[in-house]
Amino acid sequence: MYAYGPVPSRRLGNSIGVSPIPAKVCSYSCVYCQLGRTRQLQTKRQRFFSEEDIFRDIIKVVESSSADVITFAGDGEPTLCSDLGWLIRKSKQEFGLPVAVITNGSLLFHEDVQKDLQAADILLPTLDAGNQDVFERINRPHGSITYEKMIDGLIDFRKDFFGQIWLELMLVKGVNDSDRQLFNIRDAVYEIKPDKIFVMTPIRPPAEDWVECPKPERVRVAEEILSESVTVKNREEGEFGVAEFKNAEEAILEISARHPLRLEQARAIEREFSEKGTLKRLLREHKIIINRYRHTNYITPDRKPERFESEAKPGSAIVVELIKCCFYRVKLKIFEKEKCYHVILDDAYYNNLAHGQLSKEELLQNCFGYFIDNAVIETLPSKIKLRDIGKQYPQFETDIRKAIAADKR
Ligand code: SF4
Repeated sequence: MYAYGPVPSRRLGNSIGVSPIPAKVCSYSCVYCQLGRTRQLQTKRQRFFSEEDIFRDIIKVVESSSADVITFAGDGEPTLCSDLGWLIRKSKQEFGLPVAVITNGSLLFHEDVQKDLQAADILLPTLDAGNQDVFERINRPHGSITYEKMIDGLIDFRKDFFGQIWLELMLVKGVNDSDRQLFNIRDAVYEIKPDKIFVMTPIRPPAEDWVECPKPERVRVAEEILSESVTVKNREEGEFGVAEFKNAEEAILEISARHPLRLEQARAIEREFSEKGTLKRLLREHKIIINRYRHTNYITPDRKPERFESEAKPGSAIVVELIKCCFYRVKLKIFEKEKCYHVILDDAYYNNLAHGQLSKEELLQNCFGYFIDNAVIETLPSKIKLRDIGKQYPQFETDIRKAIAADKR
C-alpha cells in the first residue's frame, strides 16, 4: 500500500499520504526520526516500485475520502524515488488537489530533483542546523552530502520555485537550541528565503533514546530569533482515514508501521470497525507493542530481533557472520571464497540489527552497496582495504573510490 489516509497533519490539514519508497530508505538518519534509524542510507535515486501501481493506489485512496492535499512523504526520503516528478504532475492533473512534498531537502542540489519538485505546490524541507558540525550530529547525513551542498540546493531551488516553501526546524535539547546555533540557522534562513518556518519539537518516540525536547522558553527564544517563524500545534487533530483498510487489524498495523499511532487513535480505529478487542489480541500475538513517550502511549509494530546464526565457512559463497553488536558498532566477518574481511559498520546499523529491522540479505547487500563509504573494512591479516573489495565488486567501485578518497582526507 503506497497511499494512505487522510492523515490529520499538523501543517497541512487532511492529507492523503503517499510513500513512493520502501521503509526507512533515506539520505539522513536523524536522531529524532520517528521511524527509527535509517535502514538504507543512500543518495542514488531509483525506481523502487512501479509508478503505475503507486498511482493506482493514490486514485483508490483519494476517491474513497475527502482530503485537502496530497502529500508525498513516506517512510524515508521521497526525492529518492526517480518517478516523483511524474507522480506529482499526474496527481495534480487527475485530482486538482494541491500537492505537497515533505523532504529533508538534502538532494536539492541535483538538477533532476529540482525539476521534479517544481511541479509541487508546497515544499516542506528540513533545516535543523546552521553549520556542518550540528548538521552531522542531528541529521547524520550520507557521507556525500555536506551542509554547504544542502544549503546551496535550497537557495538555488527557491530562485525558480513559484510554490510555497515551508521550512521545518526540529529543536533538540542540547544540540541545536542554543542562541549561537539558532543565530546560525537564522542566517541560513535569510539566504533560503522560505515563506514560513515551523519550529517543532520531538513529540513522538525518537530514533535515539537521548533525544529530548527543549524547554518551552528555548522554543520561544527560537521563535524570536528566527524571523517570520510560525509555531505549530503540538500534536495532530482529528483521526486517521481508514476507508481503504479491510479491518481494524490491517489499519492499526499499516498506520503504526509508518506513523506512530497514539493509543487513543488506535482505539478509535477499533471503534470505527466495531472490532473491540483487536488491540488486546495484537498485543497478545506480539504484533504490536506500546511505547510510552512524554506521558503518551504510542502503538508501534513489534519487531523482533533476527537471530544471526553463524554460517561462515571459508571457501563457500559470500556469507556474513555477525561477530559483535555493541554500542553503535556492528562488527561482521564476511567470507568470500578464500578471503575473510572484517567489517565494522557505522551506528545506523546498530539499532536496525538489534531490533530486527534489517534482514541478513539486506545487510549483505548494504555491506557492498550504499553503506560502503560509511564502513571501515579491515582484512586479516594484511592491511588490504576497500580497494580490494572494489576489484571484486566493480559495480560498487565508484562508492569505494569515494570512500578511499574520504579516508585519505
Ligand atoms: S526524519 Fe526524515 S529525513 Fe530524518 S531520517 Fe527520518 S525520514 Fe529521513
